[in-house]
Amino acid sequence: MSAIDQILARSLPLVPKPIVRRVSRRYIAGDTLREAVQTVRELNGFGLMATLDVLGESVTDRSLVEAAAREYEEALRAIIQARLDSNLSVKPTQFGMKIDFDLCLAKIRGLARQAREAGSFLRLDMEDSSCTSPTLDLYRRLAPECPGAVGVVLQAYMRRSLNDVKELPDQANVRLCKGIYIEPPEIAYRDRALVNKNFVHLLEALLDRGAYVGIATHDEELVWEAYRIIERRQLAPASYEFQMLLGVAEPLRRRIRGDGHRLRVYVPFGAHWYAYSLRRLKENPRIAGYILSSLFRPRTS
Ligand SMILES: Cc1cc2nc3c(=O)[nH]c(=O)nc-3n(C[C@H](O)[C@H](O)[C@H](O)COP(=O)(O)OP(=O)(O)OC[C@H]3O[C@@H](n4cnc5c(N)ncnc54)[C@H](O)[C@@H]3O)c2cc1C
Repeated sequence: MSAIDQILARSLPLVPKPIVRRVSRRYIAGDTLREAVQTVRELNGFGLMATLDVLGESVTDRSLVEAAAREYEEALRAIIQARLDSNLSVKPTQFGMKIDFDLCLAKIRGLARQAREAGSFLRLDMEDSSCTSPTLDLYRRLAPECPGAVGVVLQAYMRRSLNDVKELPDQANVRLCKGIYIEPPEIAYRDRALVNKNFVHLLEALLDRGAYVGIATHDEELVWEAYRIIERRQLAPASYEFQMLLGVAEPLRRRIRGDGHRLRVYVPFGAHWYAYSLRRLKENPRIAGYILSSLFRPRTS
């Protein structure tokens, strides 16, 4: 990232919301479930799988937990009715994990059971480090209750992740990503080379434990490392998948799919787009150009 891009990435909270919305449009399917279904349909048409994320997080009001659960149930119904190749990704804090762990467990359990009955699947996204232990706890409780229908995420920047692999239940389903939240160096690697090294270690450790891994990255170096591991272990294409975010690295996405690997796209939608958009823009290596061109582009809506 250039110096100017880095400065802009750090100043993003000062950028007016309408501009953030315009430049982050590529990362989000839209405000409504209908738009998300359309996006998934198009991705499925290109041979890509999807995971739907109803945007929202850090909920502190119980009525919003109920609302999130309803929105997810609707999304699950839409997936089934439209016969989409998609599952669900949920943020535990959207289900009240910060206010009441038992409420969160009960609500996610309800959704996981419905997903299981429908032959679908629910991934617990991993949020900041205050959520790591409770999220893994949720996963360890739900995995045996809903076998094959629940998964979790491990972050390669977390120093603890290699230990967390050892504590996973058997036949775990894990999305492996670098990690996006800002964490202190005492608990997280900051150096890109170290994070990448740990990503590869974790991928090997997860496969050694017999886990199904969602290899979630747009980093060509890691994709290449994953290819090497898949080849060496002679993994069947159905025993792992690549995962990418909507609106990111589409040429690489096409290449991975073209090479015969399964690939799932993370499709966020909904009214609570701001926090997610900031995280994505912060990672865009050409953020300055994006913001500048959006200032001079005519408005489309
Ligand atoms: C499917 C999926 C689910 C995820 N779930 C979680 C989660 O639950 N918890 C969590 O902490 N993190 C999650 N992440 C985010 C992840 O942790 C990283 O922050 C993010 O994927 C960027 O890391 P990278 O591996 O792509 O490598 P990077 O080195 O960040 O990116 C590699 C290259 O990809 C391109 N790129 C990356 N991001 C962008 C962008 N926003 N816009 C344009 N180009 C970009 C650039 O060309 C960049 O050089 C998820 C990522 C994916 C793909």
